[in-house]
Amino acid sequence: NRTPFVAGNWKMNGDRSLVTTFSASLDSHAVSNVDIVLCPPAVYLPLFSSANFSLGGQDLSAQEPGAHTGDVSGEMLKDVGCSYVIVGHSERREDHGESNSDVAKKASKALACGLTPIICIGEPLAVREAGEVEAFLSEQLKALVEHLSVDDLSKSVIAYEPIWAIGTGKTASPEQAQDVHKFIREFFANEDKTLAEGLRILYGGSVKPDNAKTLFAQADVDGGLIGGASLKVEDFISICQAAN
Ligand code: 13P
Repeated sequence: NRTPFVAGNWKMNGDRSLVTTFSASLDSHAVSNVDIVLCPPAVYLPLFSSANFSLGGQDLSAQEPGAHTGDVSGEMLKDVGCSYVIVGHSERREDHGESNSDVAKKASKALACGLTPIICIGEPLAVREAGEVEAFLSEQLKALVEHLSVDDLSKSVIAYEPIWAIGTGKTASPEQAQDVHKFIREFFANEDKTLAEGLRILYGGSVKPDNAKTLFAQADVDGGLIGGASLKVEDFISICQAAN
């Protein structure tokens, strides 16, 4: 009973007019049996109001509210209507030096604020070419199980985003995605079988309307985290429909 899940990550893109387009179109295209989440830049979150999809932040601070210029807290995301937040996106790990344990702390903070963290993991090309994907992902996953309880993890969503597939048009093949998703689920099964069976694991990296269906059809792929294609409302809607 893992309800299919599609999240759109606008990254640092979009404007008021895109908010208007999405609010109108997504609302009139209800997709049944799919959890849909849109993660626009934080400044645009309060402009949305919708019953047909949920809102998520793209990051949150692991700190308590206070003197942290430029940061956004989980409490604030909650206050403007979010129920989700992306943590540990590879672009944050790279641009802001977020470590595996920073990411785990952010996920923990999100949960404490009543938000569902969408926790991103994924390897760079060099790691894949060296045949070390599982060892690399194990390090990212170990930090999660060290900081989060089984109960916390059962309230989280995992997104596998191979860095070489992000924004490159080089989508992982359905087999490559399935292999890694299966590995991730088995990793969690070693912690707790029920957790692993119920955990939603999304694939991200150049998901488009024409490849979404085969990716989502894989046994351990429960949906997607969509970047570029989440900026075009027709593409995003057809990807959401592909998850049903
Ligand atoms: P693209 O869909 O643009 O490859 O981005 C994926 C991603 O990073 C979503 O978080």
